[in-house]
Amino acid sequence: MNKMFCVWGLSFITMVGALSAQSAITDVFFHHGKQRDRLVWYFSDAFRMQRTDTVRDNLHITQLTLNDIIFDDSTVRTKALAKHFDDYFSIRVQLTHGHLRYTITYDPKNIALSLDQTRNIRGMPMLALTLQRLVTPARVPGTFTVFIDAGHGGLQTGAQANRVTEKTSTLRYAKALRDCLKEKGYQVLMTRTHDQGVDLDKRTSKANMAEADVFISLHHNFSPTNSEMRGIQIFYTHDESRTLAEHMRTALHGTVLGGNAVGDIAIKRAVAQVTYGTEMPAVLIELGYLSNQHDAAWIVQPASIVTIVQRLCQALDSFVAGTIGR
Ligand SMILES: [Zn+2]
Repeated sequence: MNKMFCVWGLSFITMVGALSAQSAITDVFFHHGKQRDRLVWYFSDAFRMQRTDTVRDNLHITQLTLNDIIFDDSTVRTKALAKHFDDYFSIRVQLTHGHLRYTITYDPKNIALSLDQTRNIRGMPMLALTLQRLVTPARVPGTFTVFIDAGHGGLQTGAQANRVTEKTSTLRYAKALRDCLKEKGYQVLMTRTHDQGVDLDKRTSKANMAEADVFISLHHNFSPTNSEMRGIQIFYTHDESRTLAEHMRTALHGTVLGGNAVGDIAIKRAVAQVTYGTEMPAVLIELGYLSNQHDAAWIVQPASIVTIVQRLCQALDSFVAGTIGR
């Protein structure tokens, strides 16, 4: 955390010297959940922020003033989002010359607010506001539910290389995984079952509100600079997801991609919106590189899908056995 703070501090110093340094909000996400809600803003560049906290009529008021911000549609989207959650907190968005101010009002008996300035998996600066409910409704016990997220869809094609389109392939893997898990008696929910675009925060919110037990996002990787790069990576964000990622790695270990064994499957901690915004153990798996012709040729073979899916099914079994055994 200190290191991250340092990076932001340096950016600030740079900005003071540069007259035209401004940052634009490039995206806004709202991850809705039963335990917490998260508002996430992405920025094109670093920005300065002041925070003030006051208490009035037993309500807590947190003001965040962001300087040197270029306004665009994203601020409008925050305003629209804000309207829906007046029942337990309110967020007011104000724009004045070069400043963007969020005023968040909430009852500290019900909500704990935290702020996180970090960078996402692609290195973009982001600001996340988490509103954690202090009392959460008891979970209804039921069948173990796996939420499968086929990466991309619709206009979001994902990576395209070596005659493979990511959104099409991830859906193929997702459906095969669904069938395998259903056969084993799991309840399965999916982000999408056909070629359809779904916002990243809608994916997480759907899983959160359904109280899924695990979240698995399927993707393929792409390297714009190195067509030799190959193999499988598993990403997670929160500590609670680490064990799931390890079960996935163990099961996928020794998988043969395009004739080459993938001996070392990397587990990496990073902020991907779907693993960040979920309230259950969540992983994002990059199943090979579309930019590598061997991986790409292997990915589309029906036998490869069977192999990967069986191993992911095994991973779920061992994860569940470990969870329930505890
Ligand atoms: Zn992807």
